[in-house]
Amino acid sequence: MPDRAPQPVDRQLPTDEARDLISLVRDIAQREIAPSAAEEEDAGRFPREVFTLLSDSGLLGLPYDAEFGGGEQPYEVYLQVLEELAAARLTVGLGVSVHTLASYALAAHGTKEQQAEHLPAMLGGGLLGAYCLSEPASGSDAASLRTKAVRESGGDWVITGTKAWITHGGIADFYTVMARTGEDGPRGITAFLVPGDAEGLSAAVPEKKMGLKGSPTAQIHLDGVRIPDARRLGDEGQGFAIALSALDSGRLGIAACAIGVAQAALDEAVSYAAERRQFGKPIADFQGLRFMLADMATQIEAGRALYLTAARLRDAGRPFAKQAAMAKLHCTDTAMRVTTDAVQVLGGYGYTADFPAERYMREAKVLQIVEGTNQIQRMVIARHLAGPEER
Ligand SMILES: Cc1cc2nc3c(=O)[nH]c(=O)nc-3n(C[C@H](O)[C@H](O)[C@H](O)COP(=O)(O)OP(=O)(O)OC[C@H]3O[C@@H](n4cnc5c(N)ncnc54)[C@H](O)[C@@H]3O)c2cc1C
Repeated sequence: MPDRAPQPVDRQLPTDEARDLISLVRDIAQREIAPSAAEEEDAGRFPREVFTLLSDSGLLGLPYDAEFGGGEQPYEVYLQVLEELAAARLTVGLGVSVHTLASYALAAHGTKEQQAEHLPAMLGGGLLGAYCLSEPASGSDAASLRTKAVRESGGDWVITGTKAWITHGGIADFYTVMARTGEDGPRGITAFLVPGDAEGLSAAVPEKKMGLKGSPTAQIHLDGVRIPDARRLGDEGQGFAIALSALDSGRLGIAACAIGVAQAALDEAVSYAAERRQFGKPIADFQGLRFMLADMATQIEAGRALYLTAARLRDAGRPFAKQAAMAKLHCTDTAMRVTTDAVQVLGGYGYTADFPAERYMREAKVLQIVEGTNQIQRMVIARHLAGPEER
């Protein structure tokens, strides 16, 4: 089966600068990421050198202020960059999204001094971040987390507990950790910026996952990790609100990654259908398959439009949490459907590792789970329908 270059997506971009940025990202994706993606995912290898390249190219802090090394790009542009990266390799697109999520607490709630000290290295200095909310016994019910931070008489905090499912666990340079400093429930949680080499911080052996194997996901043990108060992000008790507002934006990142994976699967299916012949003609000539491909393409366009709507609301400074939850729900369900259909278009070959369709299908599944399962997204959407007093 000859390789066919996928048709580039015809994107809606607000400026020439954004168009140049997307061209740069496509170039990096096609030269440095896609060619080794299948082999490295199979081997479970994390491409650290790609993240160094992205950092050097100014692509690890895109939606943040230029003052501290960010790219000052609107979300509608940043998300389309993520989509291109995820289409080349989800480990990279999702990794950039998680790094952005991990940087959020400091960028949005840190003091000027904290930002000046840490943000430049986080946004463009080659550091890699991790976001630590989930725990073994608290996933969807994140506000019941048990990791504790206790303030000592000298002012330092001592953090003890276990975080679960941490993307970049064990390889991150910094961890944004939500820990309990007060009462039970959401108001007793505070956010901290913990360095990756802090004494007492260690990572378990990474989880053995269905897909996304190049991206390490591991438990993080915090065994009496001592942190100065200068690394507390936001006020005491504000950590859960910070974590949730980070997730509103992070969910848009997951939505964009999902559309990237779905687009890659569609491109694969279209190429294959044009080449594969049965009953004397290309299978793309059969209406049964043409309609399937048309439905896949339509769902992808609808998903892209939905995440861009949410992004544009965010860029305009308007509330966007409901639309972000809708985008996460719709785009990740779309990715699951489209990748499953792509396997179908490829027939028996789709079920083998000789083609990427089966990898896309395994990768799509995790997107329905991370950063709030799709059941939780429905709860968020329903709460918004019920009006502000119910939220
Ligand atoms: C590969 C991967 C990477 C991850 N990366 C990170 C990370 O970097 N940082 C981080 O903090 N976390 C991370 N997570 C954790 C992820 O956010 C959680 O897995 C997710 O929030 C669900 O939590 P849980 O797995 O404990 O499932 P549970 O909360 O136990 O849910 C189990 C099932 O019950 C459903 N359910 C739960 N409550 C309700 C309800 N009220 N109504 C209806 N259904 C409900 C869920 O939808 C799900 O289907 C990652 C997970 C994975 C798999």
